[in-house]
Amino acid sequence: GYRARSAFKLTELNSKFNLLCPGQWIVDCGAAPGAWTQVCVPRINSDGKQLKQPKGKIISIDLLPIEPIPGAILLPNYDFTHEKAREKILETMRAVQAEEVEEGEIPPSQLFDGVLSDMAPNATGFSEADHYRILSLVKLAIEFAQENARKKSFFVAKLWDGPDTQSVVQDLEQLYKMLIVRSKIKQQPSNNKCQDSEAFYVDTKNPQFFKNMHI
Ligand code: SAM
Repeated sequence: GYRARSAFKLTELNSKFNLLCPGQWIVDCGAAPGAWTQVCVPRINSDGKQLKQPKGKIISIDLLPIEPIPGAILLPNYDFTHEKAREKILETMRAVQAEEVEEGEIPPSQLFDGVLSDMAPNATGFSEADHYRILSLVKLAIEFAQENARKKSFFVAKLWDGPDTQSVVQDLEQLYKMLIVRSKIKQQPSNNKCQDSEAFYVDTKNPQFFKNMHI
């Protein structure tokens, strides 16, 4: 079973938009206890169970410990806001890549195919303050994705709605072709074949979000 109910958010997004596919390299930010990672592993084939499909990789990072997940590379006890943590992701990625290139599994220029961020601060209950705190995590994740993910990668992030939602949505509109804001598609993807997936923005604090998501 999944470690958290959040698994269903990602499975639902994936079944609608076909984000995950075998062979992809994913970063899962704020991954503990590990449910999103659990959703990704079989779909990107990072456990290698689909013998004829390419093997993906997932690097999962969190402030907190994460129990082992076969097929996932875990970076527990790292604060994503620290540059050292982001450097550690890249270092890990390069090390794995070097091995795979050697074994002839992949070409040498692999970038990430998708960045997930379910990072959330402990909510204070003051919704505007919480909005700004989660927003700064989302912005860092966007920056990381811009620097380290390939052009047609996808981006999924959780944001709690608030005064600056619109401005980050506008930024994302410049960066990605497919953008979903409060369950409405604002920009259509050119196509949503797995290999060519684009991006997302998700506001899960709206309790109606998943009810309304009939796309
Ligand atoms: N997606 C996860 C799953 O499916 O199991 C649930 C993630 S939970 C909603 C949010 C996580 O973000 C927490 O585990 C928290 O420790 C993590 N987090 C918050 N701030 C962080 C930071 N600066 N760096 C890394 N992780 C962070």
